[in-house]
Amino acid sequence: AVNSRTPLIAGNWKMNLDHLQAVAFVQKLHWTLKDAKHEDGTVEVAIFPPFTDLRSVQTLIDADKIPFAFGAQDLSQHDSGAYTGEISGAFLAKLDASYVIIGHSERREYHAESDEIVAAKTKAAITHGLVPVICVGETAEDLEKFGASAVPAGQLETALQGLDAKADIVIAYEPVWAIGSGQAATPQQAQDVCAVLRGVIAKVLGDEAAARTRILYGGSVKSANIAGFMREPDVDGALVGGASLVVDEFAAIVRYQ
Ligand code: PGA
Repeated sequence: AVNSRTPLIAGNWKMNLDHLQAVAFVQKLHWTLKDAKHEDGTVEVAIFPPFTDLRSVQTLIDADKIPFAFGAQDLSQHDSGAYTGEISGAFLAKLDASYVIIGHSERREYHAESDEIVAAKTKAAITHGLVPVICVGETAEDLEKFGASAVPAGQLETALQGLDAKADIVIAYEPVWAIGSGQAATPQQAQDVCAVLRGVIAKVLGDEAAARTRILYGGSVKSANIAGFMREPDVDGALVGGASLVVDEFAAIVRYQ
């Protein structure tokens, strides 16, 4: 994509790699990516380990000056209090997390996260100085019934309600049928929906926000298909699941050009 937005390659580890494996992984990835474009900020790399890994990852990244951003895969919509098992954005910010994934389809499906909860979590993230990576996407059934963009556009519109136009956010378009299926969308399909999503941002937050906000594609991204997505004007990076767990494969995605 030719524009002023810095591409973001994000690795969503899901429930994989314990904190010891995480440390070994980050060291290997850093070594493998030495001399890659992310070293000079041309491409941003972010990883999203499980909560229990975050302290170890923070300590390693800080000590060895590793140029990866990191974040969590979820947060509570509440700041603190009697919410057993939940994690506050305040805690993530204290760990120097930059990002937090919100509304991943697995949270929407297995934890009944509604668009309203996603909106509340988005606000909580911003309140604590975290950049929310807001995930939207249609199921195979939605695709058949409503076409590709109607459901993700509606999800995004609700998530953005009431946000400050200057809020720093990232959007991830992840068609549910493409996640973990090996069946990625085509670059054109991704572009078409990402362009609609950019229009939603313009409508709710204004043209400046739409021009500045990065929109990622996610769903069976791998080294063999990343370049096609990155050529599209409205695709500003990728949210990578399975392929983010293999050092050489994720490194090759970061080196997509
Ligand atoms: P996948 O997952 O790359 O394994 O399809 C993407 C995601 O769920 O973010």
